Amino acid sequence: MKKVAIHTLGCKVNTYESDMMRKKLSENGYIIVPFDQKADVYIINTCSVTNIADRKTRQFLSRAREKNPEALIVAAGCYVDTRGTEDILGKNADIAVLNKEKEEIADILNNYFKESSPSCEVKDEAPSHTRRIIKCQDGCNMFCSYCIIPFARGRIKSRRTADICDEIRSLVSEGYREFVLTGIHVCSYGLDRPDEKEDLLSLVREVSKTEGVKRIRLGSLEPGIVTPEFVSGLKDIGSLCPHFHLSLQSGSDSVLRRMNRHYDTKQYMQGVELLRKAFDKCAVTTDIITGFPGETEQEFLETVEFVKKIRFYETHIFKYSRRKGTNADRMEGQLTEKIKAARSAELLELNKENKRNFIESFRDGKRYELLAEETAGIRGKEYLTGYTREYIRCAVPAGCGVKPGDIVTGTIGEELEGETVLMNDVSVV
Ligand code: SF4
Repeated sequence: MKKVAIHTLGCKVNTYESDMMRKKLSENGYIIVPFDQKADVYIINTCSVTNIADRKTRQFLSRAREKNPEALIVAAGCYVDTRGTEDILGKNADIAVLNKEKEEIADILNNYFKESSPSCEVKDEAPSHTRRIIKCQDGCNMFCSYCIIPFARGRIKSRRTADICDEIRSLVSEGYREFVLTGIHVCSYGLDRPDEKEDLLSLVREVSKTEGVKRIRLGSLEPGIVTPEFVSGLKDIGSLCPHFHLSLQSGSDSVLRRMNRHYDTKQYMQGVELLRKAFDKCAVTTDIITGFPGETEQEFLETVEFVKKIRFYETHIFKYSRRKGTNADRMEGQLTEKIKAARSAELLELNKENKRNFIESFRDGKRYELLAEETAGIRGKEYLTGYTREYIRCAVPAGCGVKPGDIVTGTIGEELEGETVLMNDVSVV
């Protein structure tokens, strides 16, 4: 029986697809082992969203080769789709698998090894057995000027709600309690099959009716979908976590236009206000690109002021990275790495402050809900860690009768380590 190790780079959709490939391979008799172990096959589920992602992809492909020079090295996903198999085969990998071919990973390996006898034994590396990422759609039609993904993943393609609910039902039977509904552009869910009248809101509703689903979290959203109807519809769904990742990218309207983003800061602010009105103390997180071509000092200051105004819980900051084949790559005014680094550093400091203030606002003696996920050693003591509905990472002392999968409530206490805070006065729901 061949041992297979999978390493995932990039987005939540890749995480989902790696889980899917693990499942298909173990059903075909392959033994799934952690990436740091010696394996007969190494699969790198690649990302190509930035030059850094490309470099990381090549690093992991050569790292796999070093781990076992006899092993079969497989590059799968966006790096293959954007670069073409010829550029990869024989250099970084032995087999190149396109995004659309990932479902056939077992057949591809079987054909390569010409082995067909299935027997199942799993030593999975998947960390959380309580929260699961669910891919609801693939592809994107937005063509933001800096992004290669629409070229790598193609046009939007949504899974049927019934299929998604079936998958979630079977995962509930395996003990999963929280589901992250995501996609490459999950806001577009259902737009490719208008006659079937399925959209993101109807999907969340249907998933919430699935027995055993305790929590639903949404992947990255865009302001365009945050309408009064959407928000009031979400408000009625008790299992939906009040944590909204609303992608901003820039706080300057002129930069947003050059990015070909389909909203301005006024619309963005209106979306945040709608969410905060409906969901008290909800977590709003975002992504920002600094150093976009032509970004002036003034435009950057507009972004800084906007981030201060919104008071995000968390801001993921990315330095602009040129991608061959995108409109932004052909734009004038490409900035130096030094300027990009300085602007990122400034936003990172602001992010730390915003995050501290957000968590501090929960030290109000009120009780918050935690889904216990896994044990962790912190400062030499054993704890059970997990996330509140607002995505604050908390820890409860081990041995207080709480186990993974339990939902507990308690008050938010002191900072324990890094981003983890202690939960006090815990009681199981
Ligand atoms: S919405 Fe824009 S950034 Fe997101 S995947 Fe689509 S093109 Fe890329």
